[in-house]
Formats: sequence, C-alpha cells, structure tokens
Amino acid sequence: MRGKFPIFDKHPDLIYLDSAATTHKPLTVIESLSRFYSEGYGTVHRAIYRSSLAATEKYNETRETVRRFLNASYAEEIIFTRGTTDSINLVATSWGKTHLKPGDEILITEMEHHSNIVPWQLLAEQTGATLRWASINARGEANVLPLINPKTKIVSVAHISNVTGTIQPIRQIADLAHQFGAVLLVDGAQAASHLPVDVQRLDCDFYAFSSHKCYGPTGLGILYGKKELLAAMPPTHGGGDMIEKVFLEKTTYAHPPLRFEAGTPIIGPVIAFKAALDLIESIGRVHIAAHEMALYSALEEGLKKIPHLRLIGQAPEKSSIATFAIEGIHPLDLATLLDLQHIAVRSGHLCAQPCLRAFGLESATRVSFGLYNTLDDVQIFLRELTRAIKKLTS
Ligand code: PMP
Repeated sequence: MRGKFPIFDKHPDLIYLDSAATTHKPLTVIESLSRFYSEGYGTVHRAIYRSSLAATEKYNETRETVRRFLNASYAEEIIFTRGTTDSINLVATSWGKTHLKPGDEILITEMEHHSNIVPWQLLAEQTGATLRWASINARGEANVLPLINPKTKIVSVAHISNVTGTIQPIRQIADLAHQFGAVLLVDGAQAASHLPVDVQRLDCDFYAFSSHKCYGPTGLGILYGKKELLAAMPPTHGGGDMIEKVFLEKTTYAHPPLRFEAGTPIIGPVIAFKAALDLIESIGRVHIAAHEMALYSALEEGLKKIPHLRLIGQAPEKSSIATFAIEGIHPLDLATLLDLQHIAVRSGHLCAQPCLRAFGLESATRVSFGLYNTLDDVQIFLRELTRAIKKLTS
C-alpha cells in the first residue's frame, strides 16, 4: 500500500503516524488533480463548451460516489463544503438560526473537536439557546443519552473522537433524539475513512467529514443532510450557482445541494476526491478497520510496558487512535526527538482543549494510522519512543 503514495518514494524513512490530522495522497489522486488542470480544465454548471461539460460530469460523478460511500438515498443530499468545520458551521448557521429560540438546548460532549464546539457556542449566543454537554468519564466515554430531553433541539457528536478514539453509539443517539423531536449531526471527520458509514442505517440527520483526512485533496468537505431537512434550510452564502431567479428586489434559490454551493466550486479537489474514495472502497472499510486495529493492538501492548505512560481513552468501543501522556515529559520535546528519526506524531492540545483538560492535561501525544502504516512502523516507533524517553529523562 505504501507504494501507492509517492511521498514515501521521496522520503523512504518517513513513518507517518498523524493520519488523524491529515492523510497523504495516493498517486491516483495526484494524477487526477493534475490531469484536470493540464488536460481537462473547465468550470462547472455554467458553460456549454466541451471542457465545461466534461468537468460538470466529473464533478457530479464524485457526488454520486460520495452518495454511495455514505449509502445516502439521493445525490442531492451530498453538499460540497470546504471541510468538516465548514459543514458544521453550515448546519449551525442555516438550520440552527431558523430553528432555535431562547430556552432550547444544543447538546454536545466534552470530548468534541473545537470545530464541534465553537460553532454551537456562537449559535447559542446568537439565538439565546443553551449549550449543554455530556462529561467524559475516566475511560473516555461521554454519554449524551441521559441529557436528551424535550428542550433538546440538536445533538452534535463526533462519530469517533480525535483524542480518545471513542466510537459513539450513533444509532442509539439518533433514535432517542428523534423521539424527542431533535435532530442529530455526526462529526465524521475521524470515522469516514476508518469505519463503514451508512447514514440510512445510522439514521443521523447530518453527517460531516473532510476529504483531506480520506486521502483526498485539502479544501474540500462533505455535508450529508436528509433531503427534507435540506429542502427547508435557507442558504448561508449568496452568489452565483445557488440561485433560481434573481431580481433586484428579491431572489429565489436553487434546490439543494446547489443552494449551499455558492460561487465557483472546489472543482479540481471534488473531481480528484473520487480517486481517493475509489481507493478506500477497493480495500473496503471493514478490512481497513481490521488492519488499523491490528496495528493499534501492537501499539497498545508496547505503550502499556512504558513506565509512567498514561493512555487517554480506553472505551470498549474504540478506534485505532492512541493518545498518551508521560509523566515529566513534554509532548513537544518528544515529538521533536521523534521527528529527528523521521517519525511524525501529533503533539499539543489536539484541537480539543476541554477534552484534554478533563484528563488534567494541557497537551498530549497522539499516534494515528492510515492505509500506508505497517507493523514495522509500530515497532520502530516503540523503539524510538523508548530511546527518546531515555534521552529526555537522563
Ligand atoms: N472534527 C474532528 C473530530 C476532527 O478530528 C477534525 C480535524 N482534526 C475536525 C472536526 C475538523 O476538520 P477540518 O479541519 O478538516 O475542518
């Protein structure tokens, strides 16, 4: 698999363990992007000349591929955004501002990425709604179920936490939220390329993720939304492509998804994203999950032997993300020494300050896997980690 990613030809020593932040790109994605710019460049939706029609067709092909990837019912339920962050902000701004009033409740967890906290804080400020959150327990679980009540209007949780790796019971949350008339948004940034995702089976109302964490280009995100919800939502951005008729006095809007894709869209990345999804689908997310969990088991076994190392998050339903802290060692020092050995790990607050704070930490070290990682990577990492700890404590 490593051979499919040109970065490892240029940097054969690189052991990349930060796929939760962003993934490297396979040659097929790079070539698709390059082919679009060098051989078939054109805008979409607007013109009738051949390159524009071909670009439009390819753009729509990716929408259909994403529909299949999520098992959504309709391609119109797939909106191209700038990333998970943008997708969550779109729902908060469009759905949130038209549905919330003072006294209503927005429900999240203490474990969320900042992208799934701050948009709701802004919305609460703007609407007078109350932001509530489920706390994290020592194992890294945050149970929203007991907090769902008649005042809850929207629940927004990460499918997989980017710190603890905890997998939320999405279907159970969706069922309870729906019983109370609330909607459920799932932040799928850490799940989409690691677990099979079937939005009909999960019965979530919105599902957000990013192309760049799924081996696709940066600058592109996905928002899935149930057709009837999207149809009733106002646009958040005005401009070209999102309109039906424009008069100086008033404008009528296009139906979703175009209603939410104002301006010339992210054409090249959308077209190239198909190659990334094709790669994931050619392996299958069940196999990807099994491979990554095998790597995690080896990693966990090694980490547990290291004195004074604390693993953050030990939920029974957990993905292959491993976050840890070592007494007396700063994560930045550790990551710097590992980088000297060509090992890339994430260190810092992991864009989830409330989550780390709940564990009494300001920063931590995180190891996360992608398609290109091997058991050798894990063994080399564990060896170099032990060496780095020795250096930092002697
Ligand atoms: N949610 C989670 C759980 C994440 O891990 C991330 C990225 N680290 C985001 C949201 C934000 O994704 P993006 O920066 O691509 O918008």
